[in-house]
Amino acid sequence: MTEPANGNGPTHGDGRVRRIVIENCAVATVDAHGTEHTDGHVVVAGDLIESVGEGRAPAGLENVVRRVDGSGHLVTPGLVNTHHHFYQWLTRGLAQDASLFDWLVALYPVWARIDEDMVRAAARGSLGMMVRGGVTTAMDHHYVFPRGCGDLLGAEIDAARELGVRFNPTRGSMDLGESDGGLPPDFAVESTDDALAATEEAVDRHHDPSFGSMLRIGVAPCSPFSVTTELLRRAAELARRKGVRLHTHGSETVEEEKFCHERFGMGPTDYLDSVGWLGDDVWMAHCVHMSDSDIAAFARTGTGVAHCPSSNARLAAGIARVPDMLAADVPVGLGVDGTASNESGELHTELRNALLVNRLGPRKEKALTARESLRLGTYGGARVLGREREIGSLEPGKLADLVLWRVDGIGHSSIADPVAALVMGAPAPVTLSLVNGRTVVEDGRLANADEDLIAREARNEAGRLARAAGSEG
Ligand SMILES: [Zn+2]
Repeated sequence: MTEPANGNGPTHGDGRVRRIVIENCAVATVDAHGTEHTDGHVVVAGDLIESVGEGRAPAGLENVVRRVDGSGHLVTPGLVNTHHHFYQWLTRGLAQDASLFDWLVALYPVWARIDEDMVRAAARGSLGMMVRGGVTTAMDHHYVFPRGCGDLLGAEIDAARELGVRFNPTRGSMDLGESDGGLPPDFAVESTDDALAATEEAVDRHHDPSFGSMLRIGVAPCSPFSVTTELLRRAAELARRKGVRLHTHGSETVEEEKFCHERFGMGPTDYLDSVGWLGDDVWMAHCVHMSDSDIAAFARTGTGVAHCPSSNARLAAGIARVPDMLAADVPVGLGVDGTASNESGELHTELRNALLVNRLGPRKEKALTARESLRLGTYGGARVLGREREIGSLEPGKLADLVLWRVDGIGHSSIADPVAALVMGAPAPVTLSLVNGRTVVEDGRLANADEDLIAREARNEAGRLARAAGSEG
C-alpha cells in the first residue's frame, strides 16, 4: 500500500491519467464467459479499467501512482445492492418474531417520526456497513415522508457522496392509508399529487444520466397494498417521461397475494402489468410468490428482480424461485432490504445466503453455484439497475469499481478455490475497494468516514426516534 486514501483522484493536476496496478492476485471478472485468472492483474487508468489478464501487468505503463501486491487476494467487481431502506437502520431488532404485515403495522408508527438528522445518521450507518463489505453501488428505496421532516433524500445523497459510493436512490411514496383500505396508518401517507410532485422534483434536481454517473434517481411507489392504482399509473408515466427507472415491492408474501386478489381480482404481477409496471426499465423487490406465467411475463418484458434472501427468511415470506428466473433469463440482483428485516445490513453475506436458501428450494443442490451467486451480486445487480454497460464485471472500458478480498487469512486459507472462499466461507475482509478508481475502503476500514462516529450518531438518533415514538405514539 503506497498511497494515502484521500487525494487519489483520477488525473494529475496537469490532466495526465493516473494508473493503479494490482498484481499477483486471483481475478474473477464475471464477464459473459465467466473468465477467471489464477494469478492475474488489473490496471486502472483514471476512473476506468484499462486491462485485466493473467500474469503481470503490461510493462512500461506511465503515471503509475500506486502498485498493489494482491498476493493472497481475490479481485472481483464491486458488489451492487438493488434494494434497501436506509432509515430502518434506526429500528433494527424490533418486532423480531413477526411476519411482514404484522411487522409493518408494528413499525409504521415509529417510522412516521423520522426526520432529516435521523435519516442522515441511518444512511451513514447503512452505507458504511455495506461499503466496508465490498459494495460499490448502493440503492435506497425511501417511502416515508412525515410532514415537515426536512430533506430526507438530500441527506442520503450527502451520505453517499461523503463515503464515495455510487448511488441509485429512489423517491418512494405511500398514498393508500388505512381508511381507504391500505395497510399503513393514514398519518404515514402523502396525497397522490404531493407524492408525484415531490418525486418529479427529486428527479429534476438530482438525476444524472451520463456514463459513469454517481447519482441516478428512480421512481418507487412502495407496494400494491400501500399505494393507489392512480399513483402506480401516474408514477409509470412520470418515470417514462423523465427516462428514469421504476421500482417497487412485488409478490413478497401470501398476504399480499390475497390482498391483490380480493381488491383487484388478480395476483400482484397481473395487477402491476395492468398499470404499466412490467418492462426493462422496472425492477421489483422479492418476487417470492411467482407462478410460471409470472416468471414468463418478467422474462418477456425484461422486468428485473431484487432477490433478498435474508429478509425473506427473517419475515418467513418464503423462497424466491431464483433458479427458474435465471433459466428464463430474468435479470436478478441481490438486495440487503431494509435492516429492520435484515439486521446485519451486509450484502457480501447475501452471496452465501442466496446460495444456501435457494438450495432449500425444489432444485436442491443444483439451485445455484458459487459463481452464479457472485454473478447475482455483481453483474446481475448492474443489469437490474440498467447499468451493465458501466459496471458489474471487470472488463477494459468499464468503470473501475472493484474489490480486493483477502482469502489467505484464518477464515479462508485452506479453501483452494478463491470464489468458493468468498461465497461459501466466512465474510472475507476487504483490503481495498475502489469506486471510479478512488479508494473507499483501505485495510478493512472506511477510507472517507469515521466508523466510530457513525456508530455513535446512529445510536443517538435511534434513541431520539424511540423517545419521539414513545412520547407521541
Ligand atoms: Zn423492502
